[in-house]
Amino acid sequence: MTARKIWIDGALVDWDKAQVHLLSHSLQRGSLVFDYMKVNPTPKGPAVFRLKEHLERFLQSAELIGLPVPLGREALEAAVLAALRANVGAKNVKICAYIPSIEVEVVPMDARVAVAVAAYDPEIDIVQKSVGKPHRAPTLRVRIARERDKPRPKSMPPHAKAAASYLSPMTAKWRARKEGFDEVLLLDENENLAEGPTSNVFLVDREGNVLTPSLQYVLSGITRRSIIEIARDAGRQVFETEIAPARIFEMAEVFLTTTTQGVWPVVEVDGQKIGDGTPGPVSQDLLKRYQDAVYGRDLCFEHWLTYVDAPK
Ligand code: PMP
Repeated sequence: MTARKIWIDGALVDWDKAQVHLLSHSLQRGSLVFDYMKVNPTPKGPAVFRLKEHLERFLQSAELIGLPVPLGREALEAAVLAALRANVGAKNVKICAYIPSIEVEVVPMDARVAVAVAAYDPEIDIVQKSVGKPHRAPTLRVRIARERDKPRPKSMPPHAKAAASYLSPMTAKWRARKEGFDEVLLLDENENLAEGPTSNVFLVDREGNVLTPSLQYVLSGITRRSIIEIARDAGRQVFETEIAPARIFEMAEVFLTTTTQGVWPVVEVDGQKIGDGTPGPVSQDLLKRYQDAVYGRDLCFEHWLTYVDAPK
């Protein structure tokens, strides 16, 4: 039992009472969109990283799926800050919009969309209360998706963080895990590199240039955007382009980007070492610069922070 409260449609509800019915449309049809952000300690108190961009992506996800979210960006921003102030010590925020009604067909009669904001510490509030342990690897051994890991169908927009979109990546990743890998890299419909199930992918060539798949088939990761900007700011060339999977093996470094991990080095792909099989210097440098931004140490990027306790 945790004392956490979850903000649901304006009310703060006890963690254990924040439920939908088993037969709700969101559970039965996957009609839920979400976004996930990080709250970090900074010299000026806890700060949400790129709150505005996360909420804009959240609203875009809802629009792509056709969920009419009843709140605009500013009201959502206020909800996130209210949830954070009610849950001191929270390290992450998950915001979701979903159809809570029980329905008889796939198109809901009652299309009311609920909005919930959960602010919590994943380690204390979830991992420590779980019966299992999370799979955690500081560096990744990755497998490139195979024939059976179907590429994303055209009908599921990759730019929406919708619950139903994660089913096929989950299956591919679970299969890779059973084969002893940490992660899987998914391909787009032209068999080029796309992204991980919950991450974007970057390559560093032998000249130190940074490459990442263009946005056509991948989620516009907030970390991806930040790393592109930080790398350019550090004087590196960044190319957003089509990348055939075989090119991975010509690269000096490979890394994934996610809100939870920042820059996550990949040291092996399909059993072959990348570089010398340890995190490379460019990945480490970008991670350091990224951390300086998220922890409020690099004031050039302070505009990416929303302080939880600052008067607005
Ligand atoms: N791609 C997908 C499909 C994801 O779910 C995520 C995680 N939100 C990412 C990429 C990385 O996005 P971000 O950097 O915003 O966490």
